[in-house]
Amino acid sequence: MKNDHDGNDNPPVDGSELIRFDKVTKRFGSNTVLDELDFSVASGKHVTLIGPSGSGKTTILRLLMTLVKPDEGTIKVGDNFLFHEQKNGHLAPAGEKHIREVRKNIGMVFQQFNLFPNMKVLRNITEAPVTVLGLSKDEAEQRARDLLELVGLTEHIDKYPTQLSGGQQQRVAIARALAMRPQVLLLDEVTSALDPELVAGVLDVLRDIARTTDITMLCVTHEMNFARDISDQVLMFDSGHVIESGPPEKIFSEPEQDRTREFLSAIL
Ligand code: ADP
Repeated sequence: MKNDHDGNDNPPVDGSELIRFDKVTKRFGSNTVLDELDFSVASGKHVTLIGPSGSGKTTILRLLMTLVKPDEGTIKVGDNFLFHEQKNGHLAPAGEKHIREVRKNIGMVFQQFNLFPNMKVLRNITEAPVTVLGLSKDEAEQRARDLLELVGLTEHIDKYPTQLSGGQQQRVAIARALAMRPQVLLLDEVTSALDPELVAGVLDVLRDIARTTDITMLCVTHEMNFARDISDQVLMFDSGHVIESGPPEKIFSEPEQDRTREFLSAIL
């Protein structure tokens, strides 16, 4: 599944920088959650954020979805600014229309699936492609059928979310995000609300997507085997900073920082 011309004008995947955080600071009251954070993700790469609870990982995904605003710094997706700190220190949020355009290129899957409860599986997936991208109903349904096959749920197309297991609902949520053909997929601890026996099915679908598509992935997870399998790069967070980063074989086998070692030995 490549990002061909399909109602979403994605730039080609060429390994160039797609996401950039420049000195991004985010506070909630007196709590500085991200502290002058710099990092970037190249197009087509799979980057995993690990680190203790409360270290700011989810906040990064929420900033990219413009669900929260930074206090300082610049966030860029492709050539577009989401937030732009100017020379005078004022933060210039991009206009609504501009943000909508950038967000079309970013899909997010949450811990709590967040499907539309009053819509059947098919409509959950076709709704945004029709209303936001302007696809015809037929085109959107064909796309939904292809994606349901990819996530192994073809026979559930006419069910409501409550008729599905948590793992199945999460796979619908993944299909729904992909139906927009986003350039970036943000995954926020997508298996942590699932019963243990349902986790593997969801991770297998994501492994498949990582292997067979050119989508850029930014993933927060506590599933370290999964992170090791899919990641090009792992970023270890602590207290709002990236304290260590590198390919998974380095971070998981030969971490340099004591804090990373402690975190991994507590979780593995
Ligand atoms: P992580 O994903 O690493 O567990 P989060 O990004 O969810 O961390 O949270 C980082 C910190 O920010 C936590 O201390 C959390 O309590 C705080 N936080 C997150 N969202 C809010 C919010 N909307 N209001 C106040 N504090 C928040």
